[in-house]
Amino acid sequence: MKYKKLAEVYEDLTSTTKRLEKTDILSKFLKKVPKKDEDVMYLLLGSVFPEYSEKRIGISNRLAIQAMSKATGLQKKEVVKLWKKIGDLGKVAEELAKNKKQSTLSSGKKLTTQKVIENVKKLPEIEGKGSVSRKISLITELLTNAEPIEAKYIIRTLIGDLRIGVGESTIRDAMADAFFKNKKEVAKKIQRALDRTNDIGLVFQMAKKGKVKDLEAVGIEVGKPLKVMLAQKADSIKQGFEKVGKPCAIEYKYDGFRMLIHKKGKKLTLFTRRLENVTKQFPEVVDYIDKYVKGKEFILDSEAVGWDRQTKQYKPFQKISQRIRRKYDIEKLQKKLPVEINVFDILYYNGKSQIDEPYKKRTKLLRKIIKKHPYKIIPSKKIVTDNGKKAKKFFKKALKDNQEGIMMKNLNAKYQPGKRVGHMLKIKPEERDLDLVITGAEYGTGKRSGWMSSFVLSCKGKKKGEFLEIGKVGTGIKEKKAGKSGGISFGELTEKLQPYVIEEKGKKVKIKPKVVVSVTYQEIQHSPNYNSGWALRFPRFTAIRPDKPVKEIANLKEIEKDFKDQKRNWRYG
Ligand code: AMP
Repeated sequence: MKYKKLAEVYEDLTSTTKRLEKTDILSKFLKKVPKKDEDVMYLLLGSVFPEYSEKRIGISNRLAIQAMSKATGLQKKEVVKLWKKIGDLGKVAEELAKNKKQSTLSSGKKLTTQKVIENVKKLPEIEGKGSVSRKISLITELLTNAEPIEAKYIIRTLIGDLRIGVGESTIRDAMADAFFKNKKEVAKKIQRALDRTNDIGLVFQMAKKGKVKDLEAVGIEVGKPLKVMLAQKADSIKQGFEKVGKPCAIEYKYDGFRMLIHKKGKKLTLFTRRLENVTKQFPEVVDYIDKYVKGKEFILDSEAVGWDRQTKQYKPFQKISQRIRRKYDIEKLQKKLPVEINVFDILYYNGKSQIDEPYKKRTKLLRKIIKKHPYKIIPSKKIVTDNGKKAKKFFKKALKDNQEGIMMKNLNAKYQPGKRVGHMLKIKPEERDLDLVITGAEYGTGKRSGWMSSFVLSCKGKKKGEFLEIGKVGTGIKEKKAGKSGGISFGELTEKLQPYVIEEKGKKVKIKPKVVVSVTYQEIQHSPNYNSGWALRFPRFTAIRPDKPVKEIANLKEIEKDFKDQKRNWRYG
């Protein structure tokens, strides 16, 4: 189909923020999309690949600018200048295409969605020598044939920032509306099929046929990643019991990363929570599964946790995170940063889906098939209790073992892929706060263009007048003027900081340490990313502190002390 039709729909979708209106626009559009053009669904979600695919388009702003410069004959720095002014690379592409139209004649070829998909799909495949210029030619080919509105969305798709305010759930509702009568009921079935296949194109084809039965028949498939079940939050153990019922299972909330383990005959595949295939990166896990888990075919849900060979202590996630992306020296890294697999669920076993079985049955099964090998693979640590004291003791034990907290789970609940459920709750220690000073910022894009949108936080160093970076904060700040409700908006904070800007580089600025802010955070961690050597985990802006002089902000010593204290002082509720 013509790409312009899709671009016009994108444009219509940005013209409203109301979800029902968006659903309506999409529903009308979906009726017109032919069944064979299922990949238009991926484009609607800002990609050209189904979600289960590990491929990402991954074009940087820099590369997009290079391609725009080549397509228009304009110098790169001119494009950057425009970008700074407009704040949205998509809009820059649109402007440039408008001007190009006046000066040169485009080839007159009309872009189709197939052509866009074809070129964009090739991008992640290109590697090695000359890859940059080959990528640029593929993009330029699209841009030179694009009308302004098309250029805008091509660039936005490439840089992964479509900004039409449409997610999977809106498309799901639009499909139900377009192809079925009983919309509400069918929307649930469509969602179920999406959670199991992670392929919105495939589900679109099924929905377009209008047969509810096809949607119902979608099962889970070993080897194909499916979305994990997510937990809601509880503030205390008491609240946890109220929500999941007594007795319940309490497990360690491990500080690692989610790993789904699929085994089909000899073939083993490991996926992350984001559905990335990480099998190559974790050869030892493949080996543990082969040796210590019984069964021909299964899907296990687990958390991979790093540990220290010398001390045998567990390590925080960020210490092993590099293993996920590492493509070379895998063996070396595996020796340096070993992981232990903590299995907490089983979704499929020897020809039978387990997701509709109750939790207690599933976990019993996984305990039966796993041969426990600490520091290699174990069923997750758990107790079943209705006793608050025992639960608190277990929470403390989890923290002492360097884990994040606990999970409380209803004993009879099903496994619901892709859902954030109220029958599995996470409890972490309370947040803490610090006063820090802003020493840098980065200008935002889109809605936030013209405003600083991410702020560098610093504490005092050991030397006089020294400030050391400890993190970046972008949450807790409002989009619009805060007014009586309190807080501060990006616009207001930008105005406050602008007089203190001392250096500008692209979108980044350095700022004199003048504006003191309070932030909450969950944890302090060692970090090579900031010159203080520390990083705040989940920092959140809470207030501007005009009442606090810069000399009273936190210093490095206090940060170090906070780090040491944090596990000791956590409250358990
Ligand atoms: P959060 O990332 O804070 O939303 O917490 C949910 C994550 O905790 C899950 O996605 C898992 O990766 C992780 N997790 C750690 N231990 C467990 C456990 N015992 N059961 C379920 N999830 C766990």
